[in-house]
Amino acid sequence: MPLTNVQARDLATILHPYTPLHTLPQTGPLVLDHGKGVFVYDTQGNEYIEGMSGLWCAGLGFGDEELIEAATEQMHKLPYYHLFGGKGMEPAIELGEKLKEIAPMPVSKVFFTSSGSEANDTQVKLAWYYNNALGRPEKKKIISRMKAYHGVTVMSGSLTGLPIVHGDFDLPVAGVLHTDCPHHYRFAEPGESEADFVARLAANLTALIEEEGPETIAAFIAEPIMGAGGVILPPEGYFQAIRPILAEHDILFIDDEVICGFGRTGNWWGAETYGFEPDTLSAAKQMTSAYAPLGAVLVPERMVEAFEAESAKLGAFGHGFTYGGHPLGCAVGAKAIEIYQKRDIIGHVRKLAPQFEARLAKLADHPLVGEARGKGLIGGVELVADKATKRPFDAKAGVAGRMVKFAEARGAILRPIGDTVALCPPMVITEAELDLLFDKMEAALNDAEDWVR
Ligand code: PLP
Repeated sequence: MPLTNVQARDLATILHPYTPLHTLPQTGPLVLDHGKGVFVYDTQGNEYIEGMSGLWCAGLGFGDEELIEAATEQMHKLPYYHLFGGKGMEPAIELGEKLKEIAPMPVSKVFFTSSGSEANDTQVKLAWYYNNALGRPEKKKIISRMKAYHGVTVMSGSLTGLPIVHGDFDLPVAGVLHTDCPHHYRFAEPGESEADFVARLAANLTALIEEEGPETIAAFIAEPIMGAGGVILPPEGYFQAIRPILAEHDILFIDDEVICGFGRTGNWWGAETYGFEPDTLSAAKQMTSAYAPLGAVLVPERMVEAFEAESAKLGAFGHGFTYGGHPLGCAVGAKAIEIYQKRDIIGHVRKLAPQFEARLAKLADHPLVGEARGKGLIGGVELVADKATKRPFDAKAGVAGRMVKFAEARGAILRPIGDTVALCPPMVITEAELDLLFDKMEAALNDAEDWVR
């Protein structure tokens, strides 16, 4: 199809993130114009059901009048201020209070950023600062996991465990270690039970800590469900096996709830869904339902005390972002949490979860699908060349990417991650809309099968 004028302007102007730049001129950008509810519309007026909430973030869908009103009101009242030098403002205080109230662990203070990457970058700096304050300057390494996604800045990109984020960007930086990815379907030995797999991963983590020396390791970071690594659900008992190992070695457990937070898995936090208590937590995305950029780090009392001591020593707590705690983001965030509560969005996710899981389970029967997995309203299907042996497709064939293009042609937006096609619809989706999304996904799978065979 010839490019439209707006597509040509896009191609001439935008360096697209996470995009195959070499094929984009042929496939053409999809330029969106507006959105309403769970639907978005391109500049030609074509309608798409948004199966990914944008980037796992627009949990309340598009065009929510209450969020728009909260943002507008704040823009009129105080469009910008900051928190440096002891300045404050009501939206940040209100959102901070709400976050402390709903957190899955005791929280003393909230540090605001503008994004998830900045939140995780901050987590590392705080862990270093904390250990310096405690007089253990050697306790600095961070353990992450293969296939993790924690962002793209130099440090958060290092925490990420994906080759595409590291390759030729000269990452990861020193001091970041990656332990096993807890994906039973892909990484279990033949015949290995989930329990044995968990025990092996826990033993490997212990071995890594002992090999490096626990006195050199500051923190472990994990997403409850690994999102951008391919929607990987932890096996039963995984976090229960990992948690005590970290506590035993005084290693901070950083819980990256950037995707799982605010109801996505059927609870406020993935930590609740999977029954563990972290030391610190990173939040972003659905915190504002993505109507404004915002990230947050939830910090426990013992760390805040250490920071106060460091501040006394150095003259100030020397970390902060111009837009961290931006009043627009905070006003929208406080309103989003209010909406999650008063509209019982988490109850809605729980109500739809059985339908979501049943439709996913049906996809598992498709000849192209090796594993279909999901929890709450986040899921993925992993495409394989051979179901019996789990043999993946040749990566260069780009089958998942192709399937997502077929879905797009049928009016559904999904996301390819390696061989997995992810879905994470707005949490406000109705039962009928969810069926529509799965119907389109099924049809796109059939298109992909015709294309492959
Ligand atoms: N952490 C997780 C779990 C994420 O999924 C993401 C983004 O997808 C990030 C961190 C980074 O967030 P951002 O893109 O806002 O920097």
